[in-house]
Amino acid sequence: MKKPIYLMPVGVVEEGLLEAIAKAVERTFNRPCRVGEGLVEPAYAYDRRRRQYRVGEILLCLRRLDMPQAHRLLGLVDQDCYTPGLNFVFGQAMAGGRDAVVALPRLRQEFYGLPKDEMLFQERAIKEAVHELGHTYGLGHCPNSRCVMHFSNSLADTDIKGVSFCRTCRAELDEAGL
Ligand SMILES: [Zn+2]
Ligand SMILES: [Zn+2]
Repeated sequence: MKKPIYLMPVGVVEEGLLEAIAKAVERTFNRPCRVGEGLVEPAYAYDRRRRQYRVGEILLCLRRLDMPQAHRLLGLVDQDCYTPGLNFVFGQAMAGGRDAVVALPRLRQEFYGLPKDEMLFQERAIKEAVHELGHTYGLGHCPNSRCVMHFSNSLADTDIKGVSFCRTCRAELDEAGL
């Protein structure tokens, strides 16, 4: 049996969302996806001055987890994250590595003072999850704006792109031994 991809809630994450992402990841990567044991709220990564969390430290925390049963670890954190040089990040991954993180708050309409849209939020979270996992398979950013590997500079970019890989990225993924 193929080793599963594990979704790792970092702090509190809605169960319905985890299930929706797990289903999409399973389908996209043709591999089982499980929800792993929840990790503590990332107080260790909090930046008081910016009132944001350092995504690199959350990634490091995942990296330290000894989980030989896992093919990939995708951390999901419901805290606003950043990395030096950027105002915020939707996520980050170890290129060609095991671990990746997706930050959820900025994927919600409410973050921008707009009415709640649960389906849109789920769809965005799925796109960012697949995107960051794509990086763990060594995929870079894709010039095709409909491809899930297209770089999201803003939510508009996220909303334009699809949940799946373009033909070129899919071929690269297949070559990576998926
Ligand atoms: Zn990216
Ligand atoms: Zn592509």
